[in-house]
Amino acid sequence: MTQRGYGGPLRYVQGPGVTADLGRYLAPLGDKALVVIDGFFWDRLRPDLESALAAAGVAADFVRFGGESSDAEIERCVAAGRAASAASVVGIGGGKALDTAKITAFGIGARIVTVPTIASTDSPTSSLGVVYSPDGVYDRVVRCGRNPDVVLVDSDLIVKAPARFLAAGMGDALSTFYEARSNIESRSNNYIGDGYASTVGGYQIARACHEVLMRDGRAAYAAAKDGRLTPAVENIIEANTLLSGLGFENCGVSGAHGIHDALTVLEPTHHFLHGEKVAFGVLCLLVLENRPPAEFAEALSFCRDLGLPTTLADLGLQTVSAADLTRVGEAAMLPTNVIHSVPAKLSVRAIADAIATASLLASRPAPAP
Ligand SMILES: [Zn+2]
Repeated sequence: MTQRGYGGPLRYVQGPGVTADLGRYLAPLGDKALVVIDGFFWDRLRPDLESALAAAGVAADFVRFGGESSDAEIERCVAAGRAASAASVVGIGGGKALDTAKITAFGIGARIVTVPTIASTDSPTSSLGVVYSPDGVYDRVVRCGRNPDVVLVDSDLIVKAPARFLAAGMGDALSTFYEARSNIESRSNNYIGDGYASTVGGYQIARACHEVLMRDGRAAYAAAKDGRLTPAVENIIEANTLLSGLGFENCGVSGAHGIHDALTVLEPTHHFLHGEKVAFGVLCLLVLENRPPAEFAEALSFCRDLGLPTTLADLGLQTVSAADLTRVGEAAMLPTNVIHSVPAKLSVRAIADAIATASLLASRPAPAP
């Protein structure tokens, strides 16, 4: 009998200014907390938070995040958490700060609260944390065993970040439905516990993610570029954070992320955000799975309108050689790559040819409206 499983954070709260309520959410978890906060917010947020947490009866120690989710950084935060006898660990910042906070909490058996300051990663809601080397090379994924207790998403903070992050988050969220479908069709396991078949609910969340992107993505990008907070921006923050986060964890990733990971063997791609590379990976996945041309056209026009990369040249790979693409195909075919949930016969050549073809199709001029 196949078992199906679903998981997610206990609570998700989003809106302008919710960071000020942190104490109210933290107090029920215990009266001592460790707060791992991105350096950019050390002076901007910490002083107000210190007094707000004290007023809520929570004694908090603050650690300034060093910038990399590395073993050394995690050890430093674990030591600080132990010294503070922290009942909860709060992460405030981008994906790497949140991952460090989650793995720290796992290490000391504490509860987890995430406060993302950009809407461009799937870290805030998930039970997974990624570890990198001190100079930023991917090392491994840590399964933290539990999802965050509370996810606090302050849309005021997020709309103040450069709109490029929101667009990159949409590139990452664009992969959620297509990759969920790969996993359903290949009957692959999700990332809940040791892996289950996905639930109807998990798959419907991935579908809703896609619908919201197509409906509100362009209007949200225009508003966010101008620093405006509209219902479309709020919907996209939710799609990028809650829907994409639950969708990927409950259904699984596939070729868009697999090709993203493999492309990192080519140095020029290191200058792009995760979601930007995943957006191009989506186009490659649609070619690899030979989906209907209308699907490719929809994803292509969406990425173009958000300024996301759609060709190898857009990723700094205008001079890529056949040997380079073979190296990418080889990296993608490694057993540890997530591409193997693609419901198609895979080979180094099939992957290299899909990448080159996606770029070629996207290089043709946009059709007249
Ligand atoms: Zn991703």
